[in-house]
Amino acid sequence: MNNNLAIKIINLFKSYENVHAVNGIDLEIKKGEFYGLLGPNGAGKSTTINSITSLVKPSKGSIEIFGKNIEDNFRFARSKVGIAQQEVSQDWFFPVEQLLYFQAGFYGVLRKDAKERIEYLLNKLGLSKHRSKKMRELSGGMKRRLQIAKALVHDPDIIILDEPTAGVDVELRHDLWTYLQELHSEGKTILLTTHYIDEAELLCERVGIIDKGKLIVEDSVNNLKKMVKNSSIEIQLKDELENKPQFLNDYEHHIEDKKINIIIDKPNMELPSIILKFSEKAIKIEDIHIPQTSLEDVFLDLTGRKIND
Ligand code: ADP
Repeated sequence: MNNNLAIKIINLFKSYENVHAVNGIDLEIKKGEFYGLLGPNGAGKSTTINSITSLVKPSKGSIEIFGKNIEDNFRFARSKVGIAQQEVSQDWFFPVEQLLYFQAGFYGVLRKDAKERIEYLLNKLGLSKHRSKKMRELSGGMKRRLQIAKALVHDPDIIILDEPTAGVDVELRHDLWTYLQELHSEGKTILLTTHYIDEAELLCERVGIIDKGKLIVEDSVNNLKKMVKNSSIEIQLKDELENKPQFLNDYEHHIEDKKINIIIDKPNMELPSIILKFSEKAIKIEDIHIPQTSLEDVFLDLTGRKIND
């Protein structure tokens, strides 16, 4: 048994009639790690994480939390994990604060501890002045904050968030990112799903890319980016070429008006020699750009599709 693991998913399958939502996933998340499951809609992200909290019953496979099987140790697993689901639950008629007390009761948090914890979360998530509002009176962003507060009410060691910033405005996105980073620095294990590339790149120490119910690759963001070949250099010329210089034929390239795109393995290393070749031919360059590789390129490379198509 690996004592460093917070979550271990072994050979997970989940089918709904004809849909293979999760198709054989193995996943290990270390204690204190910030892990992201990145993939398009319908890839199987929610099904995977909902299996960890027994909201979904797997067709096959097993899951361990801190080395303990969740089926045999249901209470233990529940106490260790907090999940903010994507769908807002239907507690429309209760005030925010009351909902948090219900949640604390559900998790067996003592009333006196609950008060302190709930005040902290209302404050931390900017919900204090909305504490008396009913769920149905909250904006989308506020509902999302409440979901997260509910997930954190019993101060779990493992925090699972399903698309925490889907559909929320930029300001809230940044607030939530900051708070998640704070929780991570406190030593919490965080697993989030997202289809936002920037979110995965910014927050996650490791990213698993999931597609069609399978984990197709996982690594640190930097290592994933290194997998992508076909980087390029974009060169904007001052004037359109009269004659194409011979040296360009040594590279895979595309020319469009005054723009030349050179496809090359190590653009940063090759750049000086390419500039020199242009200058030897007295071709004036106006601008040079090396597009940064993103996890979108990794996904595109592996699947031939874009994540958010
Ligand atoms: P993601 O979270 O990556 O968007 P999901 O795990 O929600 O993906 O869904 C994976 C696949 O399983 C999708 O095709 C979805 O339509 C299907 N699915 C998810 N939940 C159910 C359900 N309760 N009943 C039937 N099909 C489902």
